[in-house]
Amino acid sequence: MSFKPLHDELDKWSESGRNAELWWRDDDAQKPGPMLQRLLDISEQHAAPLALASIPDGVQADLAECLLDRDLVCILQHGFSHRNYAPETERKMELGWHRPDEQIYAQIVSGLKNLRDLFAEQFVPVMVPPWNRIDPRVVEGLKVAGLNGLSTLGPRTDEFPLVGLKQVNVHVDIINWKQGRCFAGEDACVEQIIRHLSAKRAGRADVGEPTGIMSHHLVHDAGCWAFLDALFRVLQGRPEVRVLSAKEIF
Ligand SMILES: [Zn+2]
Repeated sequence: MSFKPLHDELDKWSESGRNAELWWRDDDAQKPGPMLQRLLDISEQHAAPLALASIPDGVQADLAECLLDRDLVCILQHGFSHRNYAPETERKMELGWHRPDEQIYAQIVSGLKNLRDLFAEQFVPVMVPPWNRIDPRVVEGLKVAGLNGLSTLGPRTDEFPLVGLKQVNVHVDIINWKQGRCFAGEDACVEQIIRHLSAKRAGRADVGEPTGIMSHHLVHDAGCWAFLDALFRVLQGRPEVRVLSAKEIF
């Protein structure tokens, strides 16, 4: 396999004189470690801005220290504790309507404060709901809780689900969760990227939404690492591509 189909798609953007915008979100960061280091290395090698969705409950201060001089890194809020409150018959969800709303929002507010205190200017107040799921009723309170962005999975339907709350999702999952949490494969990942890019180009998806790559550094196998390295090398070499930071987006 090669990245040829991606090059072909990007050629079409280039021919029409448009920039293809992408971004990169990695989930579940709580502490430094060799896997996080590897992720940061890829980001730096290819000058790719990285939005780390961090779980506020139990996030360690040494994560902030490790990211201190990393100008390419922003922190987003990944729920509060990444606990599932849905019954066994439903899909996992922390930010569903399974608890009193006071409890849900108190945790969101406390998590936001925790991340802002730790990461200061690197923190961007964007909610990344665990498992990419959030009840629409919980979304309604996010702005009041202090957030101005939301990021889930799949093409967005609204740029602003609420006044003052911007949504920019991810569209590419590099992991196959159902078959042993392994790399989804180069062809499948490239295909996911092209699907969103071409939908935007054809007006079937919101062209203003950057195409989001989602990774999960803690479970990456060799295939995931090799793909991210190769992908951001390709993107860095394409003049019509802009990989945006969370600060530019939200
Ligand atoms: Zn997560």
